[in-house]
Amino acid sequence: MAQIDDLPPLRDVIAAHGLNAKKSLGQNFLLDLNLTSRIARSTGSLEDSTVLEIGPGPGGLTRALLAAGAKRVVAIEKDSRCLPALAEIAERYPGRLEVIEGDALQLDPVALTGDGKVRIAANLPYNVGTQLLINWIATPNWPPFWSSLTLMFQKEVGERIVAEPGTKAYGRLGVLCGWRCKGGILFDISPKAFTPPPKVTSAVVHLTPNEAPLPCDLKSLEKVTAAAFGQRRKMLRASLKALSPEAETLIERAGLDPTARAEEIDVVGFVALANSFDRQPSGD
Ligand code: SAM
Repeated sequence: MAQIDDLPPLRDVIAAHGLNAKKSLGQNFLLDLNLTSRIARSTGSLEDSTVLEIGPGPGGLTRALLAAGAKRVVAIEKDSRCLPALAEIAERYPGRLEVIEGDALQLDPVALTGDGKVRIAANLPYNVGTQLLINWIATPNWPPFWSSLTLMFQKEVGERIVAEPGTKAYGRLGVLCGWRCKGGILFDISPKAFTPPPKVTSAVVHLTPNEAPLPCDLKSLEKVTAAAFGQRRKMLRASLKALSPEAETLIERAGLDPTARAEEIDVVGFVALANSFDRQPSGD
């Protein structure tokens, strides 16, 4: 196994600090330093960036990011048991690692990272991963405060993030991500690489912001995708009735076929639908 620094092996760190994995916190630790280094290298240029890491746990990815040259890592960890192990890493890399104890869903990432280039990298806890991603993509200001997202998810979630129209995985998440971001799945990681092993394969997703996404109100896009994919087997003229009694007009005004189904509509079509929804004379 790769030696990336002179700190103790992660297995020893876990044993020394009694970090038996907690399911409630989505703890599946990645102990293979070849893999953590591969994720760190996939993040992009690190020397000029602050990396925001969510859920460092015993610090495998944190160490890889710092060893790969990250100027500064700001890491948010909910489990206080991990803090002494993370403090040892901070000591090894003076002035470059700041650990914040807390819930990443409750903290303001902009306030924590400050000005300058921010990259987000994480092996995300499965129970909050999708919500964190949506929060970063649905951020009010665009271009956003981050310049890249390099994130590990359950593979099934990764496939939904990058899904194309006409596929089973295509849905609300794919439309939202496709509207504001570009990117893809970089590689899969077997359950065997984790301690304890999760039930399913994981995937590392890399996203960068589209500089100029098609103009559209985020809330309207969320409303039309929720209605359309909420009943994905139905034709749009039926599924969008919940949104508007004039569903058919709304769809035609967007230049779409009212008999089409949600999964046939690409991101451009959903943006047109959201804009048509906004132009309804009666509002929403
Ligand atoms: N980064 C480590 C690794 O790759 O081995 C640990 C990854 S583990 C899948 C997820 C980590 O996120 C755990 O350390 C867990 O305690 C932490 N975590 C869970 N929920 C969190 C939350 N809401 N905010 C911050 N950290 C959280």
